[in-house]
Amino acid sequence: MTMLLLDGGPVAPDAPVTRTGGVPLAPAGTAWPACAACAGPLQFLAQILLGDLPGTTAPSPGVLALFMCANRPGQCAQWSPTAGGNLALLLPAGDLEPVPAPDADQDLLGLGAVRAALPATTAPATGTVLGRLGGTPRWLQYDETPHCPTCARPMDFTAELTEGPDPVTAMNFGSGRAYAHTCTPCGRAALLWQC
Ligand SMILES: [Zn+2]
Ligand SMILES: [Zn+2]
Repeated sequence: MTMLLLDGGPVAPDAPVTRTGGVPLAPAGTAWPACAACAGPLQFLAQILLGDLPGTTAPSPGVLALFMCANRPGQCAQWSPTAGGNLALLLPAGDLEPVPAPDADQDLLGLGAVRAALPATTAPATGTVLGRLGGTPRWLQYDETPHCPTCARPMDFTAELTEGPDPVTAMNFGSGRAYAHTCTPCGRAALLWQC
């Protein structure tokens, strides 16, 4: 089963909901992540509450936090699930706090707007679909299912994201789609995009 993520409009930057933009929430002491290619701070893209996933039965399924490098657009293999130009963290649910931002240009650390992404089972007559949860990925190119860096098994498809309705404040996937995968037993996640 697939759930749609509908654009829920502006929301607080630290809202504990599925959203794009704002500030990342993580366990206390979590350091702001850096790009493996250029060493600059990554830009926070989105957080996805995995309790929103269809069929989820775990009592505390956790939170997926997605980052990507905005320091050198197109030069840090931002699309790759393994190059380190992006980062997906599978975080435990509960007791999450805003991650302190490093001393850097705020435009490089976050998107220009914060939008709630509301899970829904049917598409609205009007409005924007920001992405999908669960089901199967709708690849724009070829099947690029990543393998878990810990157990080497194919990871589970978790979420698909589009850039968002406003190009000025949206995520940059080269006008394509991003795909987030997780390996829950290993606590790992991966992000990639295609266009
Ligand atoms: Zn970079
Ligand atoms: Zn694994």
